[in-house]
Amino acid sequence: MHNPGHRFQAQDRLADGAQYIAGRFTKGTSGRTHAVVNPATGEEVYTYELASTADVDAAVAAAHEAFPGWSSATPGERSDALHRFAAVLAERAEEFAQAESLQCGKPLKLTREFDVPGTIDNTAFFAGAARHLQGQSAGEYSGDHTSYVRREPIGVVGSIAPWNYPLQMAAWKILPAVAAGNTIVLKPAELTPLTSLLFAEAATEAGIPDGVINIVTGLGKEVGEHLVGHPDVAMTSFTGSTAVGKRVAEIATSTVKRLHLELGGKAPFVVFDDADLDAAVNGAVAGSLINTGQDCTAATRAYVQRPLYEEFVAKTAALMASVRVGDPFASDTDLGPLISHAQRDRVAGFVDRARDYARVVTGGTAPQGELKSGAFYAPTLVADAAQDSEIVQAEIFGPVLVVLPFDTDDEGIALANDTPYGLAASAWSRDVYRAGRATREIKAGCVWVNDHIPIISEMPHGGYKASGFGKDMSAYSFEEYTQIKHVMFDNTAVARKDWHRTIFGDRP
Ligand code: NAD
Repeated sequence: MHNPGHRFQAQDRLADGAQYIAGRFTKGTSGRTHAVVNPATGEEVYTYELASTADVDAAVAAAHEAFPGWSSATPGERSDALHRFAAVLAERAEEFAQAESLQCGKPLKLTREFDVPGTIDNTAFFAGAARHLQGQSAGEYSGDHTSYVRREPIGVVGSIAPWNYPLQMAAWKILPAVAAGNTIVLKPAELTPLTSLLFAEAATEAGIPDGVINIVTGLGKEVGEHLVGHPDVAMTSFTGSTAVGKRVAEIATSTVKRLHLELGGKAPFVVFDDADLDAAVNGAVAGSLINTGQDCTAATRAYVQRPLYEEFVAKTAALMASVRVGDPFASDTDLGPLISHAQRDRVAGFVDRARDYARVVTGGTAPQGELKSGAFYAPTLVADAAQDSEIVQAEIFGPVLVVLPFDTDDEGIALANDTPYGLAASAWSRDVYRAGRATREIKAGCVWVNDHIPIISEMPHGGYKASGFGKDMSAYSFEEYTQIKHVMFDNTAVARKDWHRTIFGDRP
């Protein structure tokens, strides 16, 4: 299959290399190369030199050098720079959409309507957040002193991002960090460096000083671990799988760094028997297939109360089968490929193993014909699996929804909570008390009611349980990238303070 629509010529556009250090593109010095593959065709679209640990050192040095100037800029100056950054991104929106669709296989309508505008909005939000430093009010909490709180940047942040939303993940990591006065080195996933590089370049074009935002593109084990353990990196912020997150946590802990982990998910989708069935069916299909299911908050486990169960299964399967899988650059495509053939085969493996104990209602196949060379997989609905089975418990990260029945509300909520993850969930009901109970009792960082997926810059995103800790987006993430200092002034001006008697002297 050819992609007549794709207009991003990666090899020409990023000819100077896939490292962005101190405001300039450079080539990685590891001596090894890596190819970015268009997953819709299997064609290599960009071959680049991978970073070495020496490139990480150079990027951290650039960020370290930029820190004094950037951290002492006024909040207003940082805000102005981020507003200009948002404007540059808006001017170049189509280039970002093309590059993101090319490296991920996302339909252009998704990158144009979600990834890119969401990133521009995040940038504008953090331009505003830069000027809103919040904290306890100054006061005489001890009669003899005045106390106040300073909110200060932390230093050089080392961030690591996954491949599923490369542009948005770069934005979620970079924006709160730099808005708060930190400088940053980001390592994108080696499969998807294109838009992180364009993002850093756009920041330079907007006047953000050299060294404030640096990108190193290299392998996780080598370059990622070196970045996390680097002595001049003060904070690690990681988004990715729970397995790698545990390794990152070990290294960050052993070097005593502030740590922010956004990990995997297995979001439940709980449909009570008074729900609007059509709304739930539409929500389940859109919520499970968004980004070809490679979304940490995607609906993965639908629990449907017994009276609605059979109809929900039939209608969801029919709607899933109508979703148009195809060329990401064609205007009539709803669903693109998975990120790689390896990921497609991994997803197919989960479904194939489930055939022994569950029923594949629709999908479960890789499309043939002109889509054969891409990493495509049909939207898949699996029913009749046991709660403790692999397909219900493991993060699949593909266009696969599992559906199970439940009887009582207690059971539905207990099943929703019965995985190690806790990133997101949704509850579907017309009864405000039922839905309200679900929002309180489901252990997840986000619970939607009668919807599943929408996010907004003003509200936090982050997990409970094995989905990690720390928040992206919102004022909460801005706070994570600052540290709090208590400043205490003596107001008495006496040489021997009252409390000194605990060390020398007696009570007068
Ligand atoms: P991954 O954990 O394999 O890789 C993530 C990043 O870590 C990549 O840049 C990779 O190169 C790097 N890495 C790999 N090994 C490393 C190591 N030993 N040390 C340091 N860095 C290392 O994840 P992925 O496959 O790229 O992305 C999918 C995962 O990300 C899913 O589990 C998904 O749920 C999760 N995710 C979570 C969120 C969230 O907000 N919670 C958002 C998006 C994706």
